[in-house]
Amino acid sequence: MDARTLLVRAGTVATMDDAATEFADGGVFVRGPVIEAVGPRATLPASADEVIDLPRHVLLPGLVNTHHHLFQTLTRALPAAQDASLFDWLRTLYPVWARLTPEMIHASALTGFAELLLSGCTTTSDHLYLYPNGSRLDDTLRAAAEIGIRFHACRGSMSVGESAGGLPPDALVETEAAILADSQRVIEAFHDARPRAMTRIALAPCSPFSVSRELMRDTAALARSYGVGLHTHLAESDSDVAYSHERFGCTPAEYAESLGWTGPDVWHAHCVKLDTAGIERFAATRTGVAHCPTSNMRLASGIAPVRAMLDAGLRVGLGVDGSASNDAGQLLAETRQALLLQRVGFGPQALSARAALRLATRGGAAVLGRDDIGRSRPAAPPTSSPSTSPTRPTLVRPSTTRSPRWCSARRPGSRWR
Ligand SMILES: [Zn+2]
Repeated sequence: MDARTLLVRAGTVATMDDAATEFADGGVFVRGPVIEAVGPRATLPASADEVIDLPRHVLLPGLVNTHHHLFQTLTRALPAAQDASLFDWLRTLYPVWARLTPEMIHASALTGFAELLLSGCTTTSDHLYLYPNGSRLDDTLRAAAEIGIRFHACRGSMSVGESAGGLPPDALVETEAAILADSQRVIEAFHDARPRAMTRIALAPCSPFSVSRELMRDTAALARSYGVGLHTHLAESDSDVAYSHERFGCTPAEYAESLGWTGPDVWHAHCVKLDTAGIERFAATRTGVAHCPTSNMRLASGIAPVRAMLDAGLRVGLGVDGSASNDAGQLLAETRQALLLQRVGFGPQALSARAALRLATRGGAAVLGRDDIGRSRPAAPPTSSPSTSPTRPTLVRPSTTRSPRWCSARRPGSRWR
């Protein structure tokens, strides 16, 4: 282990610990990758291999980004998609994304990581759901290792193309057998369950309008057999909700729950249109939400009921979403957007500055299922660690493999073709 020491002293240290402790004229002392001490300057070592003095700054834990599509960094602000709502925006961009190559995916990820790091984000997830021209999740994993960001790579997928009633063109979807096989490959090759891990894998069908219910269910079973997270888009817009009623006969939250897509290992992006019943079910099941305010405004999707989610006890973090629906990827700016948008929607008391920063730190860590990031605190003594190379376990079906009556299957509706 690298044992070099680092001492950072700042005008204010906001630890984001359980008591929301803040120190005036404090600092953090780090040895290798481990925080050894946090507190007032007088309690810290006086020297270190590297000392950084920031007397006019606030020192925060690294911000945590819970939703991104790094491949979109090269396709931001395309004129043809500038004024479209979600589904038209996707239809405009799918043919552009179909021409991406592995080299472009890598360069796009590297650019997005740099932008995140410059905005204070040290941990990010990414949702890569299309693999044109030989692209692989490995292209983004390589970029993360090169730049040194902590990375939760979501193996996304699309399996229902236009000809089957889905939204994406057939050329951009994969077979479900290939998706599950590659999902297993990347878990076994890259997932690291140890504390302070720099690389974790999650499984992430793109959305209910681009994969089948069978793939949602089988992906959940595969992820749970390895103990990795589950991620998708849910209830993003009115069109999204209408598709769910038309195609599945239920709300997006009901659809998710009917397929085992609720629980402490699941986080859904957006949930702008999550209704009261959905909020209650997500709270009861400890399901997480990635709130992406800029994207929601950019696509005119609406204002996510984050205040109500927090009051109900949901795990909520922030996400910049892909650059094609944000035109940037800066998490500190996104934190301010979250504050402003909740106030626009629900009044000046809806979200304080400290509460917004907590979403960007502890909230994001909780959404990604981690208690070793998102706050500045001395590390606990090491404990025994799980293996870094998961062995193939027995596949276990989720407990809710049968759909409740309110989620009756329907034939693909012509309306969505
Ligand atoms: Zn997204």
